[in-house]
Amino acid sequence: MDAHPEARGLPPDATAVAWDRDSLEYAAVCSEIYGSGLRYVQEFAKNHPGLKNWCVVLDIDDTVLTTAPFRVEERGRAFNGCRWLKWNQSHFLDAVPGAKRFLDGVRRLPGAHVVFITDRRPVMLERTKVNLRRAGLWGKGDLLIGQDNPDDTKQKRRRDCVERAIDPRCKADGPMMIAALFGDQVLDFKSLYGDAVRSARARIVRDGAWDPRYFVLPNPMYGAWKVGYSPEKWHAKDWNCR
Ligand SMILES: [Mg+2]
Repeated sequence: MDAHPEARGLPPDATAVAWDRDSLEYAAVCSEIYGSGLRYVQEFAKNHPGLKNWCVVLDIDDTVLTTAPFRVEERGRAFNGCRWLKWNQSHFLDAVPGAKRFLDGVRRLPGAHVVFITDRRPVMLERTKVNLRRAGLWGKGDLLIGQDNPDDTKQKRRRDCVERAIDPRCKADGPMMIAALFGDQVLDFKSLYGDAVRSARARIVRDGAWDPRYFVLPNPMYGAWKVGYSPEKWHAKDWNCR
């Protein structure tokens, strides 16, 4: 049996990064999730004829773009916003397998919109659009909503921006019904922390209790799961750029 990655001089997350970057299985799982996501959304459109303003909401990192190349260079270091920001200024990320086919399919449906909700900072958004366009993931009329400040949670943006359109960032498009959500973290779907996540997990294992609108992409590299879904630890990201 192989020695532990660290014992072989590799970063602690080497196995996860290699699985994400190199394995057929990662590509197959992602492609399968997006395939079933598209069938779900096509069914939704069929069941809501005449619905004018509805959308799919997607996270960016490790949902539609894979960050494995950045992780390789990081060699297991703790997340640092400045290094992440700088890296993105000189590199582009590739699409997660299946994402493009899914988005192309969604855009053909009547009344459909695509909304990206990410915790990338406002300063990164123009470059993010360029990356999405380059990866074939950006379409006319898409919305990209970054995180303005620490209180600007994804839950808040889904509610105030997308569903109610009381946030200036979404006003032009008006309120939209969310048909399906795609993400690699529980927070991409709902605001759940600590024990609430553990109970939700137990209900999935016991009864398969998981909202069919929620499509989870695999991310073995990092996540709130690594810190026991503790909000303090998960949000303690270093963005101090000197
Ligand atoms: Mg993500």
